[in-house]
Amino acid sequence: MSIKIIPTKCTGCEACINACPYGAIKIKGNIAHLLDNCTSCMACIRECPTGAIVLKDPGSYQEQPRTLIEQGTGVWIFVEQRHGIPAGVVYELLGRGQALAHDLGEELCAVLLGYNIEFIAGKLAKYGADKIYIVDDKALSDFEDEPYAQVIAGLVTEFKPSIFLFGATTIGRSLAPRIAAKLGTGLTADCTELSIDKKDRLLLQTRPAFGGNIMATIICPDKRPQMATVRPKVMKPAEHNQARTGKIIRIVQEIAPSRAKFLETYKTPGQQENIQEADIVVSGGRGIGEPGNFRLLQELAALLGGAVGASRAAVDAGWVPYANQVGQTGKTVRPKLYIACGISGAVQHLVGMSSSDVIVAINNDPNAPIFSVATYGIVGDVLEIVPALISKLRGSSS
Ligand SMILES: Cc1cc2nc3c(=O)[nH]c(=O)nc-3n(C[C@H](O)[C@H](O)[C@H](O)COP(=O)(O)OP(=O)(O)OC[C@H]3O[C@@H](n4cnc5c(N)ncnc54)[C@H](O)[C@@H]3O)c2cc1C
Repeated sequence: MSIKIIPTKCTGCEACINACPYGAIKIKGNIAHLLDNCTSCMACIRECPTGAIVLKDPGSYQEQPRTLIEQGTGVWIFVEQRHGIPAGVVYELLGRGQALAHDLGEELCAVLLGYNIEFIAGKLAKYGADKIYIVDDKALSDFEDEPYAQVIAGLVTEFKPSIFLFGATTIGRSLAPRIAAKLGTGLTADCTELSIDKKDRLLLQTRPAFGGNIMATIICPDKRPQMATVRPKVMKPAEHNQARTGKIIRIVQEIAPSRAKFLETYKTPGQQENIQEADIVVSGGRGIGEPGNFRLLQELAALLGGAVGASRAAVDAGWVPYANQVGQTGKTVRPKLYIACGISGAVQHLVGMSSSDVIVAINNDPNAPIFSVATYGIVGDVLEIVPALISKLRGSSS
């Protein structure tokens, strides 16, 4: 913690308590005290009317100079792909990227790295890319942060896009910050909304902040490109247009050898399917009663060819891993069918699943809010209804 409170100056007026976004100040004995969760964000220093909150070492803090680097042009998206198959979020980036490029009157460009991957380029054009930058090199066969970041930072320095978007996937979350750090620009992680401030031509990057309690819109006025990672399944994917074509630009770059050596990829035994890629998600909440009952949901999901999701209550109880959590602080899903079992339908859960095509809710409380978004509602005990569904699907009478 790099700030301190001067007790003799503090009047206990509580202005700092209202200013602190982290709830990290308490008044004890009419004097403010900093708690361990203080991040030294300095919001309290600005609000304190008596100058009682100060930096411990004022010389250590220097305001960064605000210099706008070259403006740049073009909305870029990173094409995450495995074995030549683009990740689902790529189509969502192309969809929103088209709208942003349109608002700016700029081109939408896709950046494709890998080995023997040029065949993907035509598809990217049909989903809206005006230009596709391709770096096809054996050194890029498998994703590795170092060579990918080196190559992409080189492309940005040469072509100077105004905006650069990545999926907020494991790869995107690892790669984008490395590139932003190399380029000395800002990055907003995990955005749920992107739009353009047409007056200032700035990217408005919206994401949940402070534990999901507020939505913050962030801008990057001084540096380029404006970089963001985007939550999968939040934005609508681009539409396919067979008539569209794009310009392919092949780039050859010298790639420095990576310090890491890629050995192999393997699936962890018992690893759940990715709920964001599944067409059917069977989710359970506190109403499931106990962890063992999740076996019923796994059985139902397996019969339907789907994956198992969960509410935060079920995850917090340790019944299901966090990777399966649906909602504001979990994953956003948009399956063809979402079956909510024993989930009340708190707003933080609904934001993660309400765009599903068909929602079936099973709950013993007819007034549960989940029914307000459900296509079909079943009022009853989930531990009777799910076994009945399983039995029906197996072809025997329930
Ligand atoms: C900042 C913040 C972020 C959050 N992020 C998330 C998030 O990402 N995802 C999320 O899910 N929540 C999130 N939450 C928590 C959210 O507010 C709810 O507390 C949570 O979703 C409740 O989970 P639940 O519906 O399983 O449990 P409950 O609200 O306890 O609901 C259980 C439901 O089961 C029903 N039920 C009980 N027994 C049976 C039975 N035998 N048969 C049928 N129905 C039964 C009950 O009628 C009830 O409706 C967040 C909260 C905050 C403050």
